[in-house]
Amino acid sequence: MARRALALVNVGAIERNVARLVRAADGAIVCAVVKADGYGHGMLAAAGAALRGGAGWLAVATAGEALALRRAGIGPDVRILLLGALSDEELPVALDAAADVTVWTPELLDALAADGRRIRVHVKLDSGLGRLGTRDAAQATALADAVAAAPTLELAGAWTHFATADEPGDAFFGEQLRRFRAWAEPLRDRHPGVLLHAANSAALLRDPASHFDLVRPGVAIYGLDPFGEDPAARDLEPALGLVSYVAAVKACAAGQSAGYGRRFVAARDTTLATVPIGYGDGYRRGLTNRAEALVGGRRIPLVGTVSMDNVTFDLGAGEGPAVPAAAGDDVVLIGIQGGERITAEDVARHLDTINYEVTCGLSSRVPRVHH
Ligand code: PLP
Repeated sequence: MARRALALVNVGAIERNVARLVRAADGAIVCAVVKADGYGHGMLAAAGAALRGGAGWLAVATAGEALALRRAGIGPDVRILLLGALSDEELPVALDAAADVTVWTPELLDALAADGRRIRVHVKLDSGLGRLGTRDAAQATALADAVAAAPTLELAGAWTHFATADEPGDAFFGEQLRRFRAWAEPLRDRHPGVLLHAANSAALLRDPASHFDLVRPGVAIYGLDPFGEDPAARDLEPALGLVSYVAAVKACAAGQSAGYGRRFVAARDTTLATVPIGYGDGYRRGLTNRAEALVGGRRIPLVGTVSMDNVTFDLGAGEGPAVPAAAGDDVVLIGIQGGERITAEDVARHLDTINYEVTCGLSSRVPRVHH
């Protein structure tokens, strides 16, 4: 394995997180969301770990992702739910993958009925996210009835998605839950067997009233906290570590600078470590003069501009560097070393973003090493 920057993905952690979510789901089916290459962790490895951990279903955003799962050997006993919109080009791919598809327009329903294959269909109500789905509950009901009446279609589910489940004090979550329930529960009375589902990770962990028949956790299966806080506090185990190494150690005298734009100028004599990771790897430029890393179990600050392939850290000054480090030493950008820990949530805070974007944003140049 070429040693540069690696994402070390602990599949056992994904398995344990899923097992923990299965317990929290308390009887609802767990549908593990593995879209976007398993939130950057590797879709196939994530899917396998999730199934071992007790997930019953998998969910993806695109028809291509569903087909990739089938081609990798995920058999028909595992339902794959397609969460996203389907273009004309994607529709046959979704059907080849025998995916459960989501519908909210009569046009898509007609196209599915015209295909002639047996297809499982979920109807989506937009209860307030304002993205996909119909806001019109009467139209959603009419669609569900039409699915149930179509000879080759099966009404498999009725679902919605929350806008503010990750904001615990927010009343809109309860409002969406009320709207969904008012639409979906009478529907289930008329079509017994239709699965109701709404909960993402935050809803699953926050409110059992949102669980219904199936839950759709994504971020939490990877040990990332849906509320952006410390995953350990919710008994989640981060699965992804990001590591690189010290490529060069060099003295930096007071007044000398490092990096493009001279955004770091040493105030006093110090020692810098150059680490071969940068925004070309998804270690984003917004981390300039902000993030930290671990070397020898000690925290070191990132100094200067993050460039495409390299970044510099300040080892500090003393007799030699305050933090001793030599070329070749391991550098942890996300993960644990010694007693110190840097989480994806920490990195996200520096970037004013969410942990999801930190792991999804790691580029294909970073090999995922599953262990
Ligand atoms: N359900 C839908 C429709 C989604 O789009 C997503 C992810 O964005 C999820 C569930 C999983 O959400 P989370 O990763 O917050 O658990």
